[in-house]
Amino acid sequence: MHADVPTMFLAIILVGAVLSLSVGAVADRRQHDGMVFWAVGLALHTLAYICFSLRGQISDIVSIVLANTALSCALATFTEGLYAFYQSRAPRRLIWLPVVLVFLVFFALLDQLVTRIIVGSLVFVTQCLLALTFMWRQRRQTAGRGKYFLASGIAVMTALLTLRAAGAATGAAAAMLSLSQSSLMQTLTFLGALTSLLLLAIGFVLMSKERSDQLNQIMATQDDLTGLANRRRLNEVLAIEWARAHRSGQPLGLIMIDIDWFKGYNDLYGHQAGDDCLQRVARTMETVTQRAGDLAARYGGEEFILILPDADASAAQRVAEALRQSVQALAIPHNAGADKHVTISLGVAVLSEACYPDAESLLRAADAALYRAKDGGRNQVQLAPEALRHAAPVKLVQLIWRSAYECGNAVIDGQHRQLFNDINTLLGAMLGERKTDEVAALVQVFIADVMQHFEEEEALIKAAGYPGAEDHARQHRQLLDKARTVTEHFRIGKLALGEVFEYLAHDLVARHLLIADREFFASLQPRAQAAPITH
Ligand code: GH3
Ligand code: MG
Ligand code: MG
Repeated sequence: MHADVPTMFLAIILVGAVLSLSVGAVADRRQHDGMVFWAVGLALHTLAYICFSLRGQISDIVSIVLANTALSCALATFTEGLYAFYQSRAPRRLIWLPVVLVFLVFFALLDQLVTRIIVGSLVFVTQCLLALTFMWRQRRQTAGRGKYFLASGIAVMTALLTLRAAGAATGAAAAMLSLSQSSLMQTLTFLGALTSLLLLAIGFVLMSKERSDQLNQIMATQDDLTGLANRRRLNEVLAIEWARAHRSGQPLGLIMIDIDWFKGYNDLYGHQAGDDCLQRVARTMETVTQRAGDLAARYGGEEFILILPDADASAAQRVAEALRQSVQALAIPHNAGADKHVTISLGVAVLSEACYPDAESLLRAADAALYRAKDGGRNQVQLAPEALRHAAPVKLVQLIWRSAYECGNAVIDGQHRQLFNDINTLLGAMLGERKTDEVAALVQVFIADVMQHFEEEEALIKAAGYPGAEDHARQHRQLLDKARTVTEHFRIGKLALGEVFEYLAHDLVARHLLIADREFFASLQPRAQAAPITH
């Protein structure tokens, strides 16, 4: 297959001109993405081939010296374009020195065909290798596959130039440059040059497109100020993780974070300082969430969210506490805040045992816990009641009645046993996902039972002549006062149900009934009939 030499020149010139015009038409100087360099490089490449094709019809200075210099300029311009694309400072001398060399070599060796081709080709190869080396160093920063097309284009050109030098060295120089006689070698060289030209242009345009796509993707998912995931990304990830956790039965931790007294911070230190503070909190969030799959996001304003796949209540609580302490340790002065430093409040909710019907309710639970952290004095972590159930510090245990707890008085023993049952019913309701008002009603029943029991017990121990009866009645009043406060705090959302339960079960029942009450056991005489509590 031997193609006609002028036709091949025409093909390369036409393709080069069309590519140069097309790239030039879409290049935008303001974007500094190297596209303008690429259009100019393609134009210089075309110019070089126009001059080559006119060999013999115009002076040798133009068709040999200037044509090769234009080709070298094209390679240097492409390299400049690559540096511009990566926004790196171009090593000007290294890039443009070969152009000067090409000019001098071709000018000085105008009459020495073989030496000229060998030396000239080697300089061109050096230029190609410079561009390839730079691309190789940047490979990790480059998204997509366009870079492979471009690198292949440069590699094809390097191979052709090396072949050209080798051909000249073996005595084929005259045949290679003949415009009238085509050879297989010449045809292959032209086809290679055309391929490399197409790869150079398409590769660079693809690289540019892929980078724009990547930037668009980042802009659509990242918060501008903090660099964390934005709300759109958060919603996406939350939906995916929630579905995954729901399917697999693995827990999913969610922490909602809000900077304390941040309005005051802005007012006192200015908006710019406020922005800096948001960035520092965001960086701290990134340092505490190092596990793959964890997501730190800005929810809006000075509110952030951490999504922690596979984190159960204690793990999520640990992360939240570590974050709280880390932000406090930043020691950002805040004279308008309660702690004189910037602090955060955190609400933790955990999806486990399918306790939330959808992702929004998990968010709402974390939000409610965050509000409790604010109400509780800020700079603290609060767990959603459902999470509290699984968290380490709160002990939720069933109370088991034993005969050793009996004092021998049937009234008191019957009522103590009833209170144990109340607590166990309450625990069952809490763990059985019963509605909050139903659980709250059971708490009220329990407190009413306690009041009735205390009243009867006080009368009995007084009648039995127990010397500490007054003191014991005072303890009852204190316990009931605390019970009322605790349930009131639960009603207004200040306390989680788990905390209320812990007080009722441990302080009121276990500790008082089983320890404090033992003191009057000796003063009581057994009675024949049990008097159950009547509702
Ligand atoms: P609390 O402890 O109850 O959370 O009090 P707060 O002052 O932090 O709460 P509030 O919601 O009243 O104030 C939030 C402030 O966050 C108001 C707004 O000026 C500030 N803010 C929200 N977004 C930005 C931001 O992007 N940059 C800056 N500098 N401030 C912001
Ligand atoms: Mg807020
Ligand atoms: Mg705040």
